Amino acid sequence: MAHSKYEYVKAFEREDKLLPNTWIVVRVDGKGFHKFTKEHQFTKPNDITALQLMNHAAAAVMKEIDDLTLAYGQSDEYSFLFKRNTDYYSRREVKLASVIGSLFTAHYVLAWSRFFPDKPLTKPPAFDARAVPYPSIENVRDYFAWRQADCHINNLYNTSFWALVLKGGLTENVAMKRLSKTVAKDKNELLFSEFGINYNDEPEMFKKGSTLVKELKPFTKESRVPIKYADPKYPVVRDDGPDHVIQEITRQETVVTELHCSIIDE
Ligand code: ATP
Ligand code: ATP
Ligand code: MG
Ligand code: MG
Ligand code: MG
Ligand code: MG
Repeated sequence: MAHSKYEYVKAFEREDKLLPNTWIVVRVDGKGFHKFTKEHQFTKPNDITALQLMNHAAAAVMKEIDDLTLAYGQSDEYSFLFKRNTDYYSRREVKLASVIGSLFTAHYVLAWSRFFPDKPLTKPPAFDARAVPYPSIENVRDYFAWRQADCHINNLYNTSFWALVLKGGLTENVAMKRLSKTVAKDKNELLFSEFGINYNDEPEMFKKGSTLVKELKPFTKESRVPIKYADPKYPVVRDDGPDHVIQEITRQETVVTELHCSIIDE
């Protein structure tokens, strides 16, 4: 069907290649997770297991797509950074966003029962996705600083809100009113004076979100090689038959490391 008379419909598609030499960021965000987290009774304000499931799904996406170098996640969202010169899907915006959105969702669903063995998945989670090209490394840094600032603001709010509701016995409406017009300092003060919570002591993952980086880690393995091809770089562990030796060779593997660190300049 290569050149059928129907093929003209392809001309309706729009060109959507993202600018070359720019850093592409794809962000996925849970669709209606306010409701989804209620439906699945997430611990408020932060369900650790749910955050770990997000990190797991993101790491799986990182491992699957070589050109992804870094990812940052908080709440129901994750941002993925491509290396500058990637040619993944010819840099087509919709392909990049849709394939990452769907891979992420698939890994989230696939691992759900491992993270929540006693909690059946009763509604299908979905993640929207967008792809944005950034022309300078400064823009990239500011992008991630923006997401981390969002994490901080929301987490301080949510920690205060749920302290008022769960520990203070306020209704959600009253708690919301109580927090309106408060600034960060007021919320820190409220947490400390009314609930004995020092916000600084909250877990780093909640306050800072999670950053995933790819690292090359060396590992060793035994390899059986003909004596005449043995590489003098590696130690010989033992002979194996008249013509072969077992060598301990060193290779590198890509591992994804999770950090809970500051991206924002202090
Ligand atoms: P939209 O479809 O527009 O994104 P949304 O309901 O997902 O709507 P968000 O702004 O993305 O809106 O907010 C995510 C919601 O999910 C927040 O209410 C947040 O508190 C909740 N949430 C996300 N992760 C967790 C978690 N690990 N534990 C508890 N609540 C969470
Ligand atoms: P790309 O990522 O570029 O789409 P692809 O391998 O998915 O690569 P497609 O042109 O989409 O390439 O082809 C889909 C492939 O899946 C074909 O090889 C097709 O035969 C196979 N396939 C799809 N559905 C079925 C099915 N129900 N039974 C057997 N094979 C299938
Ligand atoms: Mg959204
Ligand atoms: Mg959401
Ligand atoms: Mg969100
Ligand atoms: Mg296909």
